[in-house]
Amino acid sequence: MNMKKLLAIFLIIAMALTFAACGGGNDDQAAQDTPMTYKVAMEPTFPPFDTINQETQELDGFDVDLMNAIAEDQGFELEWVNMGFDGLITALQAGNIDIIASGMNASEERREKVDFSTTYYDSGLVVAVKTGNTAIKSIDDLTADMKAGAQIGTTGADLATELFDAGKIKEAKIYNGLDVAVMDLQNGTINALINDLPVTKAYMDVKPGTIEIVGDVLNAESYGFAVQKGNTELLDKINAGMQNIIDNGTFDDIAAEWFE
Ligand code: GLN
Repeated sequence: MNMKKLLAIFLIIAMALTFAACGGGNDDQAAQDTPMTYKVAMEPTFPPFDTINQETQELDGFDVDLMNAIAEDQGFELEWVNMGFDGLITALQAGNIDIIASGMNASEERREKVDFSTTYYDSGLVVAVKTGNTAIKSIDDLTADMKAGAQIGTTGADLATELFDAGKIKEAKIYNGLDVAVMDLQNGTINALINDLPVTKAYMDVKPGTIEIVGDVLNAESYGFAVQKGNTELLDKINAGMQNIIDNGTFDDIAAEWFE
């Protein structure tokens, strides 16, 4: 084979390798340009934080708008998932979801299992009764013949269970959905509901004159977004995005939509 042919073959190989390298570079660039998509879960019977839009049937709420604003600020995408509240932390630990955005109190006990973002809403538990029930004016008026309801996996359920274990109530009735717990309070199946102040108020607004809050706020809670323990990359993005939307007024605009 003469030199010319060898040179031609060499050039063809060199061009093919160059092309492949460039092509590969294009693939890498494309991968870098494709935004990350994170799976974020919530339990949607917790208005105004986590609910289902009755018109669109889409997941909706303060948590949704807040997390979407953070994602936009930080350039990542979200896939929203509806999940039972009691399954959220396990799903996060297993890596089945990436973020919990569900009005979750960033308690010390939970901080041992997951990492929380900067907290974004201060709340607390209250007792609610059926309107007209004058026997219960605070948690201290619950008696051993009464049933107190709460949502599964929540701080409210923890308190109701504590009362039951201490023999102070007949039953801690635990519900998957808070909407059913509220219905059972309204129809007299349970005597009291232990739940978060802003959410109980939201249910009161839906059906005024059916349930009412009695006594004082029972504890201090602060909601945070949760990520898998050690996922500092995602946690830093969420915290940076949260600070940015606070600084640029987006946080207050979203809050005004849901709380005023
Ligand atoms: N804030 C309560 C908790 O963290 C209830 C949350 C909820 O029901 N979404 O347990």
